[in-house]
Formats: sequence, structure tokens, C-alpha cells
Amino acid sequence: MADHIVIIGGGPGGYEAAHVAAQLGAEVTVVDTDGVGGSAVLTDCVPSKTLIATAELMADMTTAQELGVNFHDHEGDAATAIAVDLGRVNARVKQLAADQSADIAARLDRDGVRVVTGRGRLGPDLTVEVGDETLRADAIIVATGAAPRTLPSAQPDGERILTWEQVYDLTEVPEKLIVVGSGVTGAEFASAYLSLGIDVTLVSSRDRVLPGEDADASAVLEDVLTRRGMNVLGQSRMQSVTRDGDTVTVTLTDGRRVSGSHCILALGSVPNTADLGLEAAGVATDEGGFITVDRVSRTSARGIYAAGDCTGVLMLASVAAMQGRIAMWHFLGDAVAPLDLKKVSSNVFTAPEIATVGWSQKAVDAGEIDAQAVMLPLAGNARAKMQGVRDGFVKLFCRPGTGIVVGGVVVGPRASELIHPVSIAVAESLTADQLAQAFTVYPSMSGSIAEAARRLHRV
Ligand SMILES: Cc1cc2nc3c(=O)[nH]c(=O)nc-3n(C[C@H](O)[C@H](O)[C@H](O)COP(=O)(O)OP(=O)(O)OC[C@H]3O[C@@H](n4cnc5c(N)ncnc54)[C@H](O)[C@@H]3O)c2cc1C
Repeated sequence: MADHIVIIGGGPGGYEAAHVAAQLGAEVTVVDTDGVGGSAVLTDCVPSKTLIATAELMADMTTAQELGVNFHDHEGDAATAIAVDLGRVNARVKQLAADQSADIAARLDRDGVRVVTGRGRLGPDLTVEVGDETLRADAIIVATGAAPRTLPSAQPDGERILTWEQVYDLTEVPEKLIVVGSGVTGAEFASAYLSLGIDVTLVSSRDRVLPGEDADASAVLEDVLTRRGMNVLGQSRMQSVTRDGDTVTVTLTDGRRVSGSHCILALGSVPNTADLGLEAAGVATDEGGFITVDRVSRTSARGIYAAGDCTGVLMLASVAAMQGRIAMWHFLGDAVAPLDLKKVSSNVFTAPEIATVGWSQKAVDAGEIDAQAVMLPLAGNARAKMQGVRDGFVKLFCRPGTGIVVGGVVVGPRASELIHPVSIAVAESLTADQLAQAFTVYPSMSGSIAEAARRLHRV
């Protein structure tokens, strides 16, 4: 008889595991509260990147004049401003997210996966309880994701004080937006709304934006954002956010106050692991409530796996999906390689974008790995000049003896696409010479990746 796999949570951690399990002949049930796709599709990645698509178009338009394009109004006068219709943008965002969720539901259906709508909870002896139903399983995957963190002193009201899940209800452009938090989510929203022509203040508790990213990359980003008019408040820790009528006030711990019309809270995430019956089932969590897993997604309880944001391993949709697949390859006896975080490529969708893979500059500087680095500004790239791109760089790290590429950073437009050759080099242990010798198109931004690799050639 086929194994029965029950998956709690229909985000990328859950639905990708479901596809693998179905492919390997298991009977699969996914339990989900909000609609398959999870937060990734309904409130986080897909909506934010759809909003950012509009922001990118607006940002590109600012270079139009330099490239020789003028805008005129219907009477032929020079147009001095372009404006975004946020209501239409957000309607498109919601429609696209709903369509994507429906696509995923259709694919699960095609694979014969049963989807049960409801809140799942672990029961005794490898069971999952959903309402009145008890699902018996041979293996369970917990993939319940995470939710925006809020503070008692900074409570969202869904109108002017917003979590990132609530911004798509805005129908009018905020007059003055304050984004609290300068991690990836805060930086992406601040950058996007700035590109949409909105007055943005970014409140950062650290001395630079994106404290977790490559320092050279965040310096470029901060420089671009301030040049484009963003008010970046460094070393400014939020104490509270309050609303009085149409005014929102962010009070900082040093007593300063910043006022605006709207505020987005980007204070990180908390795992959706409360009331899941984890403790009774023997599933260990850490002090933050994240489920402890090994590199093949096993929890401390036999037969129970966990994947995605609820494990806090690396909160990315791509990692959630891989953890889910690995769990099923492992349980169902297929070939499996343990999760290797040094091969994960990731991207910050700001303007410019910041893409990274492998070992970081911080690790190299701390002596965790011996590596040579080269950094090449994009400004010297012929294609960049043609496109009016001045900001950004390519950075590569390789091992001094073998020349094997162990990491890289790309900062620039569409860095998310440009990182892929570096990612392949890291995954396949290619040398800088091998990366350099592959043809690139002339002129192209990717030419800078090959050029950086050439500079790592040792005689
Ligand atoms: C604003 C933002 C933008 C992001 N952009 C990107 C990006 O561009 N690229 C990227 O790789 N990552 C991105 N991420 C991260 C990405 O969204 C997460 O890593 C990803 O959603 C994790 O997937 P998951 O399957 O673990 O959880 P989720 O996508 O959160 O799905 C979990 C699902 O489980 C459901 N659930 C919870 N509890 C239960 C229960 N008890 N019973 C049944 N169902 C339950 C939830 O309702 C949800 O539907 C972004 C995150 C944010 C906040």
C-alpha cells in the first residue's frame, strides 16, 4: 500500500513536497488554512515582486530623458511628472496572486493530491487533526510558515499602520511613508515606494541598511536611495508607532519623532508554530519557536519533518521548497543530498538589486575561509554605459590554491538574473578560469562577470 503523507501548510515548503511525494507514488494530503501557495504566493513574494515590477518601470523612466526620450501631455506640452495609480497596481497584484494560487491548486489536483481546507494540528501517533477529521500518516511535514512580527507598542491598524501583508489594500498613494526596519523586506518596500514617486523615510536601528548583506552592496544601495531622495535614518531604534487621525508618528528610543501619513512595519517574522501540538508530539523548537531540523528536514520526532519559514533555516521560498523536496526524497527513499546553504543564491529586490551566492565577504574577512576577492564596478561595462547604469558591481571570491569560485555578489539592475552563472560555478566547483572562458555576449552586463573572473587568473 502507498505511504500516506500529510502536509500541514500549503506554501512552497508544503506544495513542492507534495509534488515530489506524489511523483514517488505516495498518497498525499495537504492541509491549509488560507489557500495553496501560502504566504509566499498570497501575501509575501509574489505580491511584493509584482508591486516591484511597476516600481522598476517607474525607475527606468527616470533615465528616459538621458536616453533621449521626452514625455508630452495630450496638448503637446512637456510632461513634468508621471504618476502611479496605486489602486490599479494593487488590483493587479491581488489578481496575479490569486491566479498563481489557482495554478498551484490545479497542478496539485493534476498530481492527485488532496487539499483539505482548515487548521491542522498534530495528534497522537502520526496523526493530524483538522476539524472533526483525523488524518493518519506514515510521515508528516510541518510547513506552516511565519507571520509578520509586531510589538505591543507598534500595532498595525490595517489603514495607516501596516504590516507588509496589508499594503495591497491601499488605493491611494501615501503622502509620506515611513518604513520601520531596514532588513530585506523593509529595504525592498522603501525602495519600491520611492520609485513609485512617494516620499519615503526609512528607519533603521543599525548603522547601515541591509546589515545582513555584503557591506559594499549595502553602501551602494544606501547611496542610491539617498541620492534619489529617501530619508534614511541610521541608528534609529523605533520605540512606538502611534496614529492620530491622518498622522502616524514613529517615536524613536532617543526621543526623536518622525511623522508621516502611513507606516509599514518590517520587524521580521515569527514562526506559525503555536498551538500545533508540537511539544506533545516530541517536536523540539528553539527559543524563538522555530522547529529544529537537520539537513534532511527531520525534526526530533520520528516520521515528522519540517520545511520552510517555520524552521527559520533561511527564510526564502526557494529554501522552503528545497527543504520540502528533500524531506520527501529522504522519507520515500529517493537519492537525496542534504541542504547546503552555501549554494543558495538569493536576491534583494531593491533598485539596484543585490544578488549573492556562496561565501560572503564577512566570512572571508573573519578568516572562516581563505579566498581571494575581486570587485569590478559596472560603470566600466559597455552595456551599462548604453543603458545609463552607473551604480553596481560584480564581486567574486575564489580559493587561492585551486581558483575554485566559492561565492559572489552582483549589484545592479536584474542582478537576480546575473547571479546565475556564479551560482552554477559555486554549485559545480568551477574555477575562475572556467567561468572566464565561457563566452558572454558583447555587449552585456554578464560580460562583467567573465571579466571579474579573468582578473582572478593567476600566472
Ligand atoms: C515581503 C516578503 C517578500 C518576500 N520575497 C521573497 C522572494 O522574493 N523570494 C524568496 O525566495 N522568498 C521571499 N520571501 C520569503 C518567502 O515568502 C518565505 O520564505 C516563504 O513563504 C516560506 O514558505 P513556507 O512554505 O515555509 O511558508 P508560507 O509561504 O508562509 O506558507 C505556509 C502556509 O501554511 C498555512 N498554515 C499555517 N498554519 C497552519 C495550520 N496550522 N494548518 C494549516 N495551514 C497552516 C499558512 O496559512 C500558509 O498558507 C519574502 C518574504 C516576505 C515577508
